[in-house]
Amino acid sequence: MNPELTRYARQIIFPPIGEEGQRRLLDSRVTIIGVGATGSILADRLARAGVGHLRLIDRDFVELNNLQRQLVYDEDDVTAVLPKAVAMARHLRRVNSTIAIEDIVADVSATNIAGFIADADVVLDGTDNFTTRYLINDACVKLGKPWVYTGVIASYGMSMTIRPGETACLRCIMGELPAPGTVPTCDTAGIIGPIVSLMGSIAVAEALKLLVGKGTLNSGMIHIDLWDDSFDKFDLGGPRPDCPTCGQHEYIFLNAEAGARTTALCGRDAVQVSVLGAPMLSLPALAERLRTAQVGAIQVNAYLLRAQIDGYEFTVFPDGRAIIKGTNDEAVAVTLYARYVGM
Ligand SMILES: [Zn+2]
Repeated sequence: MNPELTRYARQIIFPPIGEEGQRRLLDSRVTIIGVGATGSILADRLARAGVGHLRLIDRDFVELNNLQRQLVYDEDDVTAVLPKAVAMARHLRRVNSTIAIEDIVADVSATNIAGFIADADVVLDGTDNFTTRYLINDACVKLGKPWVYTGVIASYGMSMTIRPGETACLRCIMGELPAPGTVPTCDTAGIIGPIVSLMGSIAVAEALKLLVGKGTLNSGMIHIDLWDDSFDKFDLGGPRPDCPTCGQHEYIFLNAEAGARTTALCGRDAVQVSVLGAPMLSLPALAERLRTAQVGAIQVNAYLLRAQIDGYEFTVFPDGRAIIKGTNDEAVAVTLYARYVGM
């Protein structure tokens, strides 16, 4: 065996992959959107498997309550207030230094998603919200990219592999975006570690099959509840002609207008505020302004600015995005953003 393939020996012995399949993996590009709980499994497994180019995108930073379920991260990452994409890339470069790992600290939006997935062979969902998933679905259907949906909450999870034009898409099955407050979140329902590992592993297996071009893909919706010992798979049929996304090609999530956007964050008393189409901001300049205003403690590193203001905790990123902790009210968050960051 070629020495550069030695680290993958046990995977190459597996006949459906073999040396040819391994070379395909090494020539592959995968975009992982969100590297929290599910994304940890996706990124770690694919780095070890030798996917040649991994693009890790996440808008959040590592917190202590992540460690219960988000593998790969550790207490040092929490202390250093590292963005998840940066911390994940650092860990995985020590696991496999022979592949390219790209870390991107950003909120995936209608304005930037095409650039993140245009060169990807497979796109994987590590997000925790349907707004982003519907955007991924629009973008992947439009660009003809296969993607794997993974949803995990409490003790149950769902998995669906979407191949545009061949299978139903997410919107075929789920219809319109669920109304805010109507879907359980890890804030309201909690989450246990093993279901995350299981559902993440299913998505990884689907990705390997897609990349190698062998094996039987999941053509339905897998639903597993580990607390109820329930394992189900539902047939979904093919693409629906009346689906707005894959039938009518109306990409309303991809065509979102520029402007302020707020998202209540799963599992936290916090709101994210971002401004589409805004230029990058200078963290040192913002820190200087806030120090002048004598708002409270300010911490700044190369990736983010953290400030305590009026009993709220602001975390501001260079792309202008802010996570405002201490409120679930999106209007309050926008007001605070406008007052202290500016928009
Ligand atoms: Zn569809």
